[in-house]
Amino acid sequence: MRIDVVTIFPKMFAPVLNESMIKRAQAKKLVQIKIHDLRAYSLDKHRKVDDRPFGGGPGMLFRPEPIFRAVESIRSKNEKQKLKIILLTPQGKKFNQHLANRLSRTKSLLLICGHYEGVDERVRKKLVNEEVSIGDYVLTCGELPAMVLIDAVVRLIPGVLGKAESAHNESFSSRGILEYPQYTRPAVFKGMSVPKVLLSGNHNLIDGWRKKQALAVTKKKRPDLLKKEKKKR
Ligand code: SAM
Repeated sequence: MRIDVVTIFPKMFAPVLNESMIKRAQAKKLVQIKIHDLRAYSLDKHRKVDDRPFGGGPGMLFRPEPIFRAVESIRSKNEKQKLKIILLTPQGKKFNQHLANRLSRTKSLLLICGHYEGVDERVRKKLVNEEVSIGDYVLTCGELPAMVLIDAVVRLIPGVLGKAESAHNESFSSRGILEYPQYTRPAVFKGMSVPKVLLSGNHNLIDGWRKKQALAVTKKKRPDLLKKEKKKR
């Protein structure tokens, strides 16, 4: 998979992309991530990319030309793949595991990070295939949402997570519910014991316990997920 990101804050990405699982995924060549500085596509001598909104109002908007130029340049270097262009915006479809799964099967993603008041509407109309929000709140810029999306998507690319870290039993994964409680050593800590079944070595019993616990945890913390699962059936 290839992921291109258009941003006015390219330096924000390095600390996240060069650590842990995303770093490993790039080293294994399972994903190629390229960060593009939007200002490099401005024709303005001060590399300005924003302007005041027509009709007045507070704040500034990204002008369309630098974004169109950036997308055309990325597309021209990547002609064989169909690009899926995503705008990070609080107005978008709410990001979740289902969407992360779908995007992890895409060959080429291009993420546009907004700033200020957002982007000129013509970018949405002409370039963008999908608008994605990471939640019903407003952040200063699209870089953190882009990193959230990249992390959630990249770890689902086959081969990125080792068997030991498989995404299969995680919250929101195959059954769409939350994960069961987990324990590690010591078996007794401050008078609290690990449930006996987990020390039994009987994998059928352990599986049964985990399924029951996953349902109980979901019922307590996120009953809405159980309703969704019922509707699907
Ligand atoms: N004026 C916009 C509005 O009311 O919809 C908000 C602009 S916000 C201050 C600046 C940029 O941050 C957005 O263009 C977007 O790229 C990003 N952003 C902020 N909150 C976001 C969220 N919840 N999900 C995805 N992107 C977000």
